Amino acid sequence: MPIIASNFKTNHTRKSTSLFIEKLNNYLQSNDIKDEVYVFPTSTSLDSFNTVSNLLLGVQNAYPAKNGSFTGEIGLEQLEEFDIKTILIGHSERRHILGETQEEIAKKYEFYKNLGFRIIYCIGEPLEIKNAGLEKTLEYIYEQFIDIDTNYSNLILAYEPVWAIGTGVTATNDDIGSVHKAIKEKINKPLLYGGSVKVENVKEICKIENVDGALIGTASWKIEDFIKIIENTK
Ligand code: PEP
Repeated sequence: MPIIASNFKTNHTRKSTSLFIEKLNNYLQSNDIKDEVYVFPTSTSLDSFNTVSNLLLGVQNAYPAKNGSFTGEIGLEQLEEFDIKTILIGHSERRHILGETQEEIAKKYEFYKNLGFRIIYCIGEPLEIKNAGLEKTLEYIYEQFIDIDTNYSNLILAYEPVWAIGTGVTATNDDIGSVHKAIKEKINKPLLYGGSVKVENVKEICKIENVDGALIGTASWKIEDFIKIIENTK
């Protein structure tokens, strides 16, 4: 089965997250699913679960410091409290809405890499770059690897075209296939696709060559749909 990950973004309360995890645990256990399934809840909901071994909880963001004066951020000390060892880095909403620079992203990457965290590292181009063609798209994506150690053993990549995230517009199979092929030739790491993946298209997307799974936002927030997504990739 491919790797499947749910990114809650700024959705769900502690209570609804807890229910989600409980139902997901039950489903994974009763179906004896041993493959990698990730959930990235909000930071306020990291503590309330016992997950089954194949369900991995990660944090959507953290500051590259153990602790300190970084108002509004959480750091390693807070993650350790909840035994969190997986982090999402480089998500397009952090790059484009919250203004994280490649330099900041690379610092965060280095910090959590040195601690052995599983890193899901996101890359992807905005619409004007996509419209300029594959060569420009790849050039743009490769710049998102500046100062990123792509040999890191605990690295998973996620190709998420910005224009496909939360828009309902999915990249075509050809778009996905050609970008994934090029990235894989350069960096041989598990490579997820993200961008309007849903129950109806997940099977087809996961069958594309060089696609190792999916990172899903909107369509994963209802547990029934997330379970259907996992079912559809089996
Ligand atoms: C995401 O946020 O990583 C994502 C892929 O979102 P969506 O599935 O809503 O496009």
